[in-house]
Amino acid sequence: SKIKAGLIWFNGRLVPQEEAKVSVLTHALHYGTSIFEGLRAYETPKGPAVFRLQEHTERFFHSARVMRFEMPFGPEAINQAILEVVRANGYRSCYIRPLAWMGAHTLGVNPLPNNPAEVMVAAWEWGTYLGDEAVRKGARLITSSWARFPANVMPGKAKVGGNYVNSALARMEAHQAGADEALLLDKEGFIAEGSGENIFFFRGGVLYAIEHSVNLMGITRDTVITLARDLGYEVREVRATRDQLYMADEAFMVGTAAEVTPISYLDHRPIGTGEAGPHTLRLRAAYMEVVQGKNPRYEGWLTYV
Ligand code: PMP
Repeated sequence: SKIKAGLIWFNGRLVPQEEAKVSVLTHALHYGTSIFEGLRAYETPKGPAVFRLQEHTERFFHSARVMRFEMPFGPEAINQAILEVVRANGYRSCYIRPLAWMGAHTLGVNPLPNNPAEVMVAAWEWGTYLGDEAVRKGARLITSSWARFPANVMPGKAKVGGNYVNSALARMEAHQAGADEALLLDKEGFIAEGSGENIFFFRGGVLYAIEHSVNLMGITRDTVITLARDLGYEVREVRATRDQLYMADEAFMVGTAAEVTPISYLDHRPIGTGEAGPHTLRLRAAYMEVVQGKNPRYEGWLTYV
């Protein structure tokens, strides 16, 4: 594996990466019946801290509920597992991936009954998701030919493994076309989200957040809305179209992995000046300050390892 995850918490025990293995008859491998989370821990003046641990664990258990997983560990055990993995590997900062899945009890499409979920938490050192250049200069996006699935097709507010076939198709296509990321529209043609990020834009000094419809209710999105309001921005949650992004002064995308990344081009059109905009950079700086424990006002979002 190219990923170096060191010690992995695997069904309740810390084991070396090479020992954290599953059967090829795992239900999730065949049908996408897994749920997961993605968190980051950052180096702070008081040591490593996990950002918004409670919210991520809560969403993990909401995803489990949607998939009717019987979870062998409760939220507090998962919180502890997450902290333990960061601690045991001695990371100062890392990306953390909790995963639960339907194991090798049956290969009928219905994974129930008698298929208690298996659970693991792995963490590895992961820099900027979209590359340092995208962070500084802005990422280039193209609108995907793949639509974000409607709410009666897949449970898009749950982080279900199978949902990410949609994201992977969109992202492969975007990369092949020379773009950094894909913009997915919903089946009516309104902006849904990136393959792993929520979308925002600025117009006339007002910050517009794409409303919750078929997109994931991102924790970074919530963080950025809170920070923007505290900085005095008016924030409106709206349904918006791709041409609204073409006309925006600035646009950016947010996610645990992507953090706050400016969007410089969409479908070969520059957004605003075609460079990272000042409001976006201000919000990015505010976000990085908070996750790195440099703003005491938001200490409550940090869990020290
Ligand atoms: N949308 C999708 C499809 C995602 O996978 C992610 C990453 N979890 C996001 C949005 C951003 O969510 P968050 O800010 O909670 O990481």
